Amino acid sequence: MTIKFTWFGTASYILDLDGTRLLFDPFFYRNSLATPKLKTKKEQITNIEATFISHGHFDHVTDAGWFAENLNVPVYCSEVAKENMINWAEGKILEDETYLISNDGKDNIKPCEYFDKIQVSDNVEVELIKSEHIKFDFNTIASRLFSWKVWKQIGRISKYGKGFPMGNVFGFCTRYNGRSIVAFGSLWHEYEDILKKYENCDVFIAPLAGNSKKNIAKKGGKMVDILKPKIVIPVHWDNFFPPISRTEDLSPFFKYMEKNNPNIEIIVPEIDNEITWEFE
Ligand SMILES: [Zn+2]
Repeated sequence: MTIKFTWFGTASYILDLDGTRLLFDPFFYRNSLATPKLKTKKEQITNIEATFISHGHFDHVTDAGWFAENLNVPVYCSEVAKENMINWAEGKILEDETYLISNDGKDNIKPCEYFDKIQVSDNVEVELIKSEHIKFDFNTIASRLFSWKVWKQIGRISKYGKGFPMGNVFGFCTRYNGRSIVAFGSLWHEYEDILKKYENCDVFIAPLAGNSKKNIAKKGGKMVDILKPKIVIPVHWDNFFPPISRTEDLSPFFKYMEKNNPNIEIIVPEIDNEITWEFE
């Protein structure tokens, strides 16, 4: 069987399981300063079976309602994330950003609970893992507050903050033919007992962002220690919305892995490029 992974920056990607295609945290609303550049447009995405949203923040839900409306696919998320998508589409967060979302589109957005299992097809199931959001550390907050560019845009940026409350935070365990892919939209390492349930997964999609590089290494490293995946794919480390994002330095994480988990393969994805695995 063939599993494919295509990253679009942030925690946004398509997982393709022998043709069953799942879209996670779609975010094509990168601004013009974002790096690396994303070539794929949301209009080019087709043949999606379902969409999954980890939490309600703007870099995870901004484009999700668009897929519910235009591709007529179910979008599984929290109650709060659903409200955020509809508020965004209806121009209640930024007046100059609207698109049509019909009642059918709204009905496609399905609020879920922790540990719900979504049967996407005969042999693809996605379990919603109970998780939390990373707590921004002093270094991360300070580096943003001291940025003049942030202050200049504070009006618009604070609207994103207020307009996209977080809601419940989900991780995902996608199961397919005995394989499992565990993914999170935010780096939360403290629910050890929960993480342990997904031990020995095949792939761990790790959101390495939101803290100092030292803390990213520590928290990400601890998740890897518990999950014991065969492969780690770091995501969310790109500079997706300057000036409120930055490119994360992953070298302390790589060092941690070399020392503690030398047998686990790390594949750093490139935006727009497909990664393919053949499994027995
Ligand atoms: Zn977030």
